[in-house]
Amino acid sequence: MEPPSAFWASSLASVPGVWVSLPVALPSRRDRVTARGRAAEEATDSWSFGTWAAAGATALSLRLPLRPSRHQRGNAVRERAGLATTTRLAKSKDTNKKGNYQAKARPGQQPKTELAPVPQYELSEVFSLDVECVAVGKTHLKSDRAPCSFALVDGYGAVVMQTLIQPSTPVLSRRLSNLEALSPGELNGSRAVSLERAIAELKAKLPRRAVLVGQEPEGDFGWMQLTQGVDFRETLNLAEVFTNSQGMVFSLRHQARVLLGKDASKGVHDPSWDAKVSVELYRKASEASEKELAALRDKLTSKEFWPPKHSLARECGYQIDGVCLSMYGADHCICGKPTVTPNIKKR
Ligand SMILES: [Zn+2]
Repeated sequence: MEPPSAFWASSLASVPGVWVSLPVALPSRRDRVTARGRAAEEATDSWSFGTWAAAGATALSLRLPLRPSRHQRGNAVRERAGLATTTRLAKSKDTNKKGNYQAKARPGQQPKTELAPVPQYELSEVFSLDVECVAVGKTHLKSDRAPCSFALVDGYGAVVMQTLIQPSTPVLSRRLSNLEALSPGELNGSRAVSLERAIAELKAKLPRRAVLVGQEPEGDFGWMQLTQGVDFRETLNLAEVFTNSQGMVFSLRHQARVLLGKDASKGVHDPSWDAKVSVELYRKASEASEKELAALRDKLTSKEFWPPKHSLARECGYQIDGVCLSMYGADHCICGKPTVTPNIKKR
């Protein structure tokens, strides 16, 4: 068993009176990672001390589930029906604005979680939507962001539309979406349309049978006020597709760098880049055999690509132009608003 890491030790140290009551056998790093991945899977009605200790990180952060979650109840139903259960992906607090796990765990651990296969869709049904935002307020809250640009790419990788959106409220920072290259007047110029018009044009281009693939696509379609079942059929979250057997989740940038050999260019951020690599990643995963897909997931933690590059939020110290970017962790928050736990929904 390994000694406790600095992270573990500091977590304990920050809870006076708790650490002294723990036995010497602290969970190893592997146990903790497993615990994170498994915490939501564990039965919650009979917690032995060993179970408690293994999920210590979760318990200490007061996220110990007190009753089976909707996911667990769903799994119980699936089990009774003889169906494979799904794995809920646990996340650490160290996630970026899109909820991508900035993994701290070590590669090369034993498989622990069951992974779902990738659904097969007709490419004519596949689309990817990426929306970029600017800050219109100083907090990390979603209410202080406004969409400023989006791209829609089809299943063959062609850009169906790409539009600049003129925010209706004054912009505090245009750098949140790496839009440094846009001049201050550009969002107000003739190329930019109102959000209402952008939404209407997007809805006109998006078929109702569309499947939106992307990294946490809920955020993107939410910004464009699209409704599942009305404006499109369903979504596929790449963060889930490429979650590895330890429950580790990776950013779109990391997935693209490792699996496609593509790096996002610095400076000009182009939402069509995100949308295009999302489609490519989906195609790569859907065309892979089960074994090949496992190999793709393993490659994400290979030594060659480890550790992953930091998120944009982390790179800039979780703040830009006085705007707080620390939505998922209180440690770096400068605005004092409540932080949120990202949610990956099961397929
Ligand atoms: Zn904040």
